[in-house]
Amino acid sequence: MYDSHTHTNNSDDCTQRLDGLCVSAIEKGISGISITDHVDIPSSEKTKAYDRILQSHKDVDEARIKYGDKITILKGVELAEGFLDKEYSKRILALPDLDVVIGSVHSTFMGEVNDFYSKIDFSDFTEEFLKSYFGKYLSEVLHTAKNIDIDILAHLTCPLRYINGKYHGGINVNDFADMVEEILSVIIERNIALEVNTSGIGSFYGEYMPPLKVVEQYFALGGRLITLGSDAHIAKNVGNAFTETKEKLKSIGFTEYHYYKKRTPVGVKL
Ligand SMILES: [Zn+2]
Ligand SMILES: [Zn+2]
Repeated sequence: MYDSHTHTNNSDDCTQRLDGLCVSAIEKGISGISITDHVDIPSSEKTKAYDRILQSHKDVDEARIKYGDKITILKGVELAEGFLDKEYSKRILALPDLDVVIGSVHSTFMGEVNDFYSKIDFSDFTEEFLKSYFGKYLSEVLHTAKNIDIDILAHLTCPLRYINGKYHGGINVNDFADMVEEILSVIIERNIALEVNTSGIGSFYGEYMPPLKVVEQYFALGGRLITLGSDAHIAKNVGNAFTETKEKLKSIGFTEYHYYKKRTPVGVKL
């Protein structure tokens, strides 16, 4: 098993040290993990994201010495809202020895709403607002997919984890099928992998990001490049629900998933 999306204490929302993550992954029989600490453009100065990603990669170098005979540890970054500052994004993409770049959208600014989805109280908004908010999120994902040199598109439909999962809003992805199809078509054309993010499984959300019906839509459009990401922020979540997820992907028709090494996809049989 290869987990292409994990975090350590070099992400500002995470206190997990890489050592513990490696030990947990080895215990679970995971063959490889990509360390993809956060660089969120809107908060990058405040969180000193550039320095922290350098530290993250230094930590990977040390962990490779300690655990390299038991597990492959890959150097990555999760770049969010990359389109907001292309020069800064270029600096991140130019980091040496990068194995994988995950592209994300974590915050969509609309009216007074200007924080991470995880920090917004969505209970007081009208359905109309929530729909236009989610539409704006999708347009920013499309912008990311078209313009930023990423390897993997992360957790597509991310705001629904909070809007639907936490605040029981009724956003239906089917109402956005055209926009979703446009995003999927762009990533297929640009050889960007679709991440199947398992962090919602076993949590209050209980859903994949994107939902499996979107993964089916991707398959139907010809998409075959998929990665698995636990998005673990604590060691016990590394490889979360991968065994059952692999079965579900097989039943959709996929025969392999991928991880990235030196920014090149490597196939793993499902
Ligand atoms: Zn993310
Ligand atoms: Zn993440």
